Amino acid sequence: MSSKSYNPYANAQAQFDRVAEMIGLEQGVRELLRQPMREYHFTIPVRMDDGTTKIFKGFRIQHNDARGPAKGGIRFHPQETEDTVRALAMWMTWKCAVVDIPLGGAKGGVVCDPHNLTEGEQERLCRGYVRQLSKVIGPWNDVPAPDVMTSGKHMLWMLDEFETIVGGRYPGMITGKPVGMGGSLGRTEATGYGLIYVLREALKELGIKPEDTTASIQGFGNVARHAAKMYQTIGGKILAVSCWDNADKKAYTFVNKEGIDVEAMISITDTYGSIDKEKAMDMGCEILDGEAWLEQDVDILIPAALENQITLVNVDRISKSVKILLEGANGPTTPDADDVIKQRGIFLIPDFLANAGGVTCSYFEQVQCNMNYYWEKDEVLDKLNTKMTAAYKAVSELAKRRNLYMRDAAYVISVSRVAQAVKMRGWV
Ligand code: GLU
Repeated sequence: MSSKSYNPYANAQAQFDRVAEMIGLEQGVRELLRQPMREYHFTIPVRMDDGTTKIFKGFRIQHNDARGPAKGGIRFHPQETEDTVRALAMWMTWKCAVVDIPLGGAKGGVVCDPHNLTEGEQERLCRGYVRQLSKVIGPWNDVPAPDVMTSGKHMLWMLDEFETIVGGRYPGMITGKPVGMGGSLGRTEATGYGLIYVLREALKELGIKPEDTTASIQGFGNVARHAAKMYQTIGGKILAVSCWDNADKKAYTFVNKEGIDVEAMISITDTYGSIDKEKAMDMGCEILDGEAWLEQDVDILIPAALENQITLVNVDRISKSVKILLEGANGPTTPDADDVIKQRGIFLIPDFLANAGGVTCSYFEQVQCNMNYYWEKDEVLDKLNTKMTAAYKAVSELAKRRNLYMRDAAYVISVSRVAQAVKMRGWV
């Protein structure tokens, strides 16, 4: 199902409206929170290596900054749209609120395919992006980070451009920087590890031992890879991984019923998450269609790629064996498919709770930058574990007490916190 049929912004607003109704949110607060506070849309001219100039479209959308500077990643994707970025910005506000860190929500995007850009072109694109935004981003306004197809090297080019324009050193202007250049140890692993910290809590609650479980993952980029590693560490077995094959322009699912060796799989995967098919077959994997990850007889499904992947069209492909849906991506389940998940009684760990480990560690990175004192990796991961566990417990406790679906419980906590902040500031 293409993402065109589902508009993520409409989905994000529909989810919000339901919860606003449920908690009886006042009209002014409701209107303010159901849309972004500020949007920047611009063009970025980039001198290409062949001497021509290409014009890229860029966005930065700040949904809400009542609880602190706006925060959220920048995606590079050929199908990026304003509405996707709007939805993602809104989800960032809820994400920072659910883990109770003093940050708001924003998101950025550039319509581009980094597979087709050289290092130099990517650097000039990053610098051009920051030149368009230097007045409205920064450590106390809006703090970007990596996301789909961006990484530490892009963050450092952006930081360097910002510091060149503004003059001085502002390491807290952006997070996800390389370690040694203001980045935090553990940041690369944080989103994936965070997913498994909350999964561990859910399994405990459901009385299931991690070593008795199996999982199927969609995506094999940064989030999925680290989630897979940590899941293996707690004893789980991964039976399937689905990923995009850039050469064939389609996705495949790699299945090994004996269990996939994650380290070996990573060694045959490129930076964007495409797996080498021949080498995977040598490793004993069977190769199936891109959606086959959904119908594997596993206990846990982990969509950790893009939005709108589980839809009304494919939700029935989910195997009867599935007990938990752990949303690693932002917005992977469309609202109509979500209704089916709920009816089937699959235990959901919703996206903005499950994948909040990344932004939580970004917050730790900012704290370290501001102190100019860097923590050891264990210290960072310990703090991450504490935050994620507390957030999970608060959501699950509310869900049980008020008999709510986990997504609704997470929303109730986040929206109430942000509503309180806008009211205390006297905005409404
Ligand atoms: N891009 C990540 C997310 O969607 C991290 C954002 C951040 O660190 O600011 O949560």
